[in-house]
Amino acid sequence: MTSSDHRHLLPLERVASDAEVATAFSVAARVTLGQLAAAPGRPAAMAPFDSLLGESWRLDELRRAGRPIVGVLCNFAPEELILALGAVPLRLDLGQSDAARAGGRVLPADVCPAIKCIVGAELAQLPYYREAQLLVVPTACDGKKKLARVLGDSREVFVLELPVRKGGPRSPAAWVEQVRALADRLQRLTGRSLRRGALREAIELLNRRTAVARRLNELRWQRPGALSGADALLVFQATFVADPAWWVEKAEALLRELEARPAATGDRRVRLLLTGSPVLFPDFRLLQIVEAAGATIVADETCAGTERLHHPVVVDEWTTPAMLRAVADKALLPCTCPCFVSSDDRIDRLLELARVSGAQGVLHHTLRLCQLYDLELPAVSAAARQRELPLLNIYTEHGAEDAAVIQNRVEAFVEMLQQ
Ligand code: SF4
Ligand code: SF4
Repeated sequence: MTSSDHRHLLPLERVASDAEVATAFSVAARVTLGQLAAAPGRPAAMAPFDSLLGESWRLDELRRAGRPIVGVLCNFAPEELILALGAVPLRLDLGQSDAARAGGRVLPADVCPAIKCIVGAELAQLPYYREAQLLVVPTACDGKKKLARVLGDSREVFVLELPVRKGGPRSPAAWVEQVRALADRLQRLTGRSLRRGALREAIELLNRRTAVARRLNELRWQRPGALSGADALLVFQATFVADPAWWVEKAEALLRELEARPAATGDRRVRLLLTGSPVLFPDFRLLQIVEAAGATIVADETCAGTERLHHPVVVDEWTTPAMLRAVADKALLPCTCPCFVSSDDRIDRLLELARVSGAQGVLHHTLRLCQLYDLELPAVSAAARQRELPLLNIYTEHGAEDAAVIQNRVEAFVEMLQQ
């Protein structure tokens, strides 16, 4: 999508203060990382992830490599495809109050903070936004659909059209067609054609990343105190921007350090399962409040955590069409985003996660004005009640104003579970 697709443009008007958002974002990232680093006994192997998200942002490496950068929102664009075609996929979702404020200046008030953050990051030209040559925007919710329109006036946007039902009669073929169209667009961007060997290599690399993420999660379930929920999400969200081979190496080093430690005895921290809207770096306040209240997030059912990394690409045969279908299937079928008609698989998944992780309660995070998660809340609450799993829903937006209320509610919930 380019401005030539529209007769009526929606220009994003920049103002001088937008330039300050980049500094505010860096400061917020360093504050969050500094607070996490101050936790006693934090694994030394967390340092590379801190440095990636707080300092280097991989920018020098990306500029040196000269590969086109493809910014993606959500997890629907198959990263395997982008890598195989010689580009660099970077997931650009973020959570930061100054970016949300900047986006809020040009958007109506009743738009969710996630959308405002993205528009604010575009206005401020945060580094990854500045470098991305193409933005892939899925039609996941009304906000994302309109985002494609708003951003598409000033930059190259590929609109990835999602089916409303994953199992609908026309969905599989239409979805594979979308992924093929994305491959065509990427081929034009990179000047490369899709090679079987390159696609296989990318699939195998990201499947290795999945295997390591699974081992990390299993360790969290077995030894809840070993890694805080915030650190786990930090490691998972590092995959938004990290080179996958680098991430596998650093995450394996973290695993080795954690496995070598003696298991803690007598840990009485309450185990919680996190679900709902993604908790996005650098706004990790909710996770930090949970830890301070005496609980640990031992598992999560969120698109910015476990759900991004848990599912491997399953290939029947190593031909290019079969691999293309397999990466398309992986990006769509296991996804538990509430943008589809049914929420059954999301609820099944979170109950299963609660079982395997030994969670004592569910923390449901709803970004204010996110109708998708709000509308699913009654069904999720009812399912949790049936399993006698207490559930606390917390509404948040980015900013310090709601911190005291969130803290009181989380503390009361944790205290109730401790009894
Ligand atoms: S919940 Fe769905 S729409 Fe929202 S960021 Fe995640 S994948 Fe995208
Ligand atoms: S938080 Fe909700 S409304 Fe906002 S982008 Fe995500 S799914 Fe859409």
